Amino acid sequence: MSKIFLLDTNKKPLNPIHPAQARQLLKNKKAAILKRFPFTLILKDASSHAEVQPLRIKIDPGAKTTGFVLVNDATGEVIFAAELQHRGFQIRDALTSRRQLRRGRRNRKTRYRAPRFNNRKRNEGWIPPSLQSRVENILTWVKRLQKLSLIDSISQELVKFDMQIMQNPDIQGKEYQQGTLAGYETREYLLEKWDRQCAYCGIKDVPLQVEHINPRSKGGSNSISNLTLSCEKCNLKKGTQDIKDFLKKDTKKLESILKQAKKPLESAAAVNTTRFTLLNALKATNLPVETGSGGLTKFNRIQQGLEKTHWIDAACVGLGTPILNIKGVKPLLIAAKGHGTRQMCRTDKHGFPTRYVPRIKFVHGFQTGDIVKAVVKTGKKVGVYIGRIATRYTGSFNISTKTGLVQGISYKHCKTVHKKDGYSYSK
Ligand SMILES: [Zn+2]
Repeated sequence: MSKIFLLDTNKKPLNPIHPAQARQLLKNKKAAILKRFPFTLILKDASSHAEVQPLRIKIDPGAKTTGFVLVNDATGEVIFAAELQHRGFQIRDALTSRRQLRRGRRNRKTRYRAPRFNNRKRNEGWIPPSLQSRVENILTWVKRLQKLSLIDSISQELVKFDMQIMQNPDIQGKEYQQGTLAGYETREYLLEKWDRQCAYCGIKDVPLQVEHINPRSKGGSNSISNLTLSCEKCNLKKGTQDIKDFLKKDTKKLESILKQAKKPLESAAAVNTTRFTLLNALKATNLPVETGSGGLTKFNRIQQGLEKTHWIDAACVGLGTPILNIKGVKPLLIAAKGHGTRQMCRTDKHGFPTRYVPRIKFVHGFQTGDIVKAVVKTGKKVGVYIGRIATRYTGSFNISTKTGLVQGISYKHCKTVHKKDGYSYSK
């Protein structure tokens, strides 16, 4: 069961509590709601003296979605789960559009100037803004969760494959298909290296078997450069033949397979700079950071018979993964929305100015992006509306609710549920 965060009167984190206990506290007026997302209560008086148990935050960083989980290592209980959707292409598109606008403006009004280049400096460790935003999003949430619970360690998935395990895999045939960690790592790596298809006939989306290019019976080794993937048909057909005999008639394929097999480990395994940047940023929090490979994550997940989702993958990151208790856990779905734009003049798709934006962000204490509850008792729009607002200078707001956009709701009816914090939420 996802638990609910609880803070004492000094905003120090206490042990997260069961939702039923939270309801009790609220009913007895012993606690108040501090935050809706993630749901957090604050005690009204007297702090609890129970010893606070430390939690581990586990992260599976993805290109589009990152999984987050808080786990109690001692009990294996998953306390909180979330899936964070990044902004990705939005940032790239915004920067492209800005660049084009500026270039257009420069060219329109100035004499010819010879292009200059290489006159900008990039700091060491620079990564493109769209990728940097992913790192920042994750850091933001690590910091937010640190304020709500006692976190004493971090686990992060860092690489796809653990090269060290594969350097000298002393595995026998069957173990690749089932069972050992080294087998999993190797299989995942081979799938990536051989493009998830049979090396001999190129068939896809069928079960693939690990195949010795130079067969074991003829002294072929178990090393990774002697392994490939083939479908069952080809595997049987090849049997214990040497690859040179098997592909006698197709020398082109033979050459390409031998060449691909020799490719070193590093080049096939995508080295992901974003993940390393994230690792360095996480280390800066001074908490111990454990890293794991994608193969290990999958191994843990399959061993425990769990399905594949972003947050469950996060829970399975790292060697120290306990037997997980995920009963009743529902992830909080978070989407990064940014903090608006500084543009004072919006343009249409051709770049022509169409409207101006007021300089004031706050209207009667509300700003675009706040989540509000509006109760309208009279007039045409009678009803209760909960959703994200877009403010208007006139004080007449638009609310995007679950069922659609409602326009022209006065600020007088609105009550803030959750202040804008750059993210939107759903369950
Ligand atoms: Zn085949």
